[in-house]
Amino acid sequence: MAEATYDSSNIFARILRGEIPSHRVYEDEAVIVFMDVMPQGQGHTLVVPKAPSRNLLDADPAVLGPLFAHVQKVARAVKKAFDADGVTVMQFNEPASGQTVFHLHVHVIPRFEGIPLKPHSGQMEKPEILAQNAGKIRMALAN
Ligand code: 5GP
Repeated sequence: MAEATYDSSNIFARILRGEIPSHRVYEDEAVIVFMDVMPQGQGHTLVVPKAPSRNLLDADPAVLGPLFAHVQKVARAVKKAFDADGVTVMQFNEPASGQTVFHLHVHVIPRFEGIPLKPHSGQMEKPEILAQNAGKIRMALAN
């Protein structure tokens, strides 16, 4: 089978280009951070490097250090914002692993004792809830 390549029409590339909206938490020259529209838990956030790659397998290693520094900041912020007991960090590579959007991204999900994750790419959250949660995480990042 031919090696899969990066396709710039993917939904996160479109969000990066501002072609479709997202509930943004943070943005700088390296990453954007926004709410997952089908959260697997309250406050499910995505950290997306701006550099194009399909996933971890074809990413420039130089992108990964700064990306994970941002993942750590966001993990700390969601834990604080939602007073969570823990944080799950997930990242999928290729459809066999569960990847559905083919631009590298890292899932950051606040976790609460006894509350399981909802299904991956399950139900859409209400925009007002996503906006409210993005605001809470922005506030935690700023403090
Ligand atoms: P993956 O399966 O590729 O690791 O995760 C893709 C994630 O993107 C899923 O959790 C899914 O809910 C989320 N997602 C899919 N489409 C959109 C969208 O248009 N906007 C946002 N913010 N998230 C999306």
